Amino acid sequence: MSEIQKAAEIIQEGGLVAFPTETVYGLGADALNPIAVARVFEVKNRPQFDPLIVHVADIRQAEILILKFPEKALKLISKFWPGPLTLVLPKSQMVPDIVTSSLPTVAIRVPNHPMALELIRESGRPIAAPSANSFGGVSPTTAEHVRQSLGGKIDMILDGGPCSVGVESTVISFEDKEPVLLRPGGITVEEIQALIGTVLVQTNPAGKPLAPGQMENHYAPRTPMVLDISLTALPGNKKMGLLSFQKPPANPAFTAVEVLSEKGDLKEAAANLFAAMRRLDSMGLDMIVAQPVPHEGLGRAINDRLAKASAKKAI
Ligand code: AMP
Ligand code: MG
Repeated sequence: MSEIQKAAEIIQEGGLVAFPTETVYGLGADALNPIAVARVFEVKNRPQFDPLIVHVADIRQAEILILKFPEKALKLISKFWPGPLTLVLPKSQMVPDIVTSSLPTVAIRVPNHPMALELIRESGRPIAAPSANSFGGVSPTTAEHVRQSLGGKIDMILDGGPCSVGVESTVISFEDKEPVLLRPGGITVEEIQALIGTVLVQTNPAGKPLAPGQMENHYAPRTPMVLDISLTALPGNKKMGLLSFQKPPANPAFTAVEVLSEKGDLKEAAANLFAAMRRLDSMGLDMIVAQPVPHEGLGRAINDRLAKASAKKAI
């Protein structure tokens, strides 16, 4: 029996499998099995008001889970699936409440990774999967990252090497008349707007449950991280690391420096982001200083993660 067949059986039996996608590693459970999904929340320590993304192999598998697809959603699907684009659409009765935190909508996507697609097809189930890490922490982009945070707590880890995109999917909601961006991610807002016109950007309306991508403090290393402070005003008595977009000028204030992309390529920077944050986090530093990247294309997703990883952390 292949590794994927073994993993598919575990999913069918209500177990938990971590698997690679092009964005980050997911912690998967049969989306139609509420008890299996409950275990995902438990293992991650994730609050139940945080709905999960359901992963399917193609639009046909999505059809039984969704009540209707607006025209603009279909346009996005035909261009960007499989790929790092999640759509929030009205759900059918098939989707258990625990998956959507009792919302009338479900978040759904087709991942662009051969192992993920084979796992979904082989198990014959839609797979609910948040990132395979403890809630609030840095998302895993290698199987080793998953082992470090959830190792003993889950049934299997499929290893597909490092994730090629490295940041989570873009989330677009079709709950209201006009599409709304809930989270910037692997497909750029520019690409989406070129296809379907203006997309509104959501800030948290009162009374709506906060979803993970919208929480203020998320994707965070244990080491306090600050974003965009002047490099000339650094405290002298701290052991500090720098998370830099391109190679910075030499600065003795930093014990360690992680460069996201020597050549200034946002795609490469996104793919390196979470692993670089983890390396700095493992060095026993007092503080990580992160510099924002250009705020365009994938840079929006990177800056969003940097801002959330450093929220509420003072020097
Ligand atoms: P994660 O699974 O941690 O990568 O993040 C899930 C993301 O999906 C969140 O950022 C939410 O924006 C979004 N999400 C999932 N389900 C829903 C839903 N039913 N309504 C609105 N947003 C959702
Ligand atoms: Mg997550």
